[in-house]
Amino acid sequence: EKKKVNENYFGAYSSFTIHREMISDKVRMDAYRGAILNNPSLMKCATVMDVGCGTGILSLFAAQAGASRVIAVEASEKMAAVASQIAKDNGMLLDGSPSGGNGEGTGIIKVVSGMVEEIDKHINIPPHSVDVLLSEWMGYCLLYESMLSSVLYARDRWLKPGGAILPDTATIFVAGFGKGGTSIPFWENVYGFNMSRIGKEVFEDSAKFPIVDIVDSCDIMTNAVVIQTFDLLTVKPDELDFTASFELELKPDLTLDNTKSTTAWCYGVVLWFETGFTSRFCKEMPTVLSTSPYTPKTHWSQTILTFRQPIAMGFEKPNPDVTAEIGSDSCPARRIQSRLSIVRAAEHRSIDISLETSGI
Ligand code: SAH
Repeated sequence: EKKKVNENYFGAYSSFTIHREMISDKVRMDAYRGAILNNPSLMKCATVMDVGCGTGILSLFAAQAGASRVIAVEASEKMAAVASQIAKDNGMLLDGSPSGGNGEGTGIIKVVSGMVEEIDKHINIPPHSVDVLLSEWMGYCLLYESMLSSVLYARDRWLKPGGAILPDTATIFVAGFGKGGTSIPFWENVYGFNMSRIGKEVFEDSAKFPIVDIVDSCDIMTNAVVIQTFDLLTVKPDELDFTASFELELKPDLTLDNTKSTTAWCYGVVLWFETGFTSRFCKEMPTVLSTSPYTPKTHWSQTILTFRQPIAMGFEKPNPDVTAEIGSDSCPARRIQSRLSIVRAAEHRSIDISLETSGI
């Protein structure tokens, strides 16, 4: 079963479409390229390992930044062969005769085909000999795809004491969204006809599965809260599953739904992540890769979790004389209290997310 999952997973990365999508993601590219090229004291003469090199783009940046050796590991056999050819075409392949490029950085990149967990078969890398561990491992909602554990495996085996990992932090955020963040408004008026029953059905279905989509920042109606931060230099593989409790409150400057001036309906929560290339290793120019709804969009979009029922929220304290449930129409909640857990289902490279919510 596990083998089949991996075949599907690495098979997907054999398609050039997915690599084009990643390379076209300017936010992603600028963050990685900036972190690599703008921190010469980190990269100059370093031995670098790129876990999951794909086309080899990050390895090429590393070679360009002055790394003395880059070990680029790629599990998709097809992509490993392609990355090797590309490094050669750009005059950067180790032991390869340069057939182009500017001559600078000649013979730096070594591409290894195979899963990082199994590369001993192909290459002997001395333990704790890598200065910089580089990887773009993030999936939807940060942890979907479960590739981070492969990066941690490489870290524990090959990273030197005092070596750097890029990125070195990862943070997951949550915030509540209003009706505009759902497909309900779309179906309410279709060329003047009311198709809201479709919107209602779509909304009810969406409570079962997370949705990966862009959320407009103006549909966010609560503050944003950090639910998890990982220090990628020290986090252990079994610490990646977590449960977080948090409270959300209405944004102070929020204009309430005009239907009933004291109430705003919260339809669910949106999750996003940031990874940091912090000053711990990127001393000259630290940077952040953000997939927030408040910053330019990326191919990760955001992850949307809808409630089974929307929760009414208001700025006033819930009225104690009203016997209705807090969060219902007649008794808006002041805050939303939640517990969210993310657990990796490693066999399927997917994650299980559970969310419990109540208005208080
Ligand atoms: N570094 C490239 C590709 C990132 S996508 C870029 O930034 O554009 C992640 C890549 O990691 C995919 O090509 C995938 O096949 C590879 N990968 C995932 N898990 C791996 C593992 N355990 N060992 C080696 N490669 C892996």
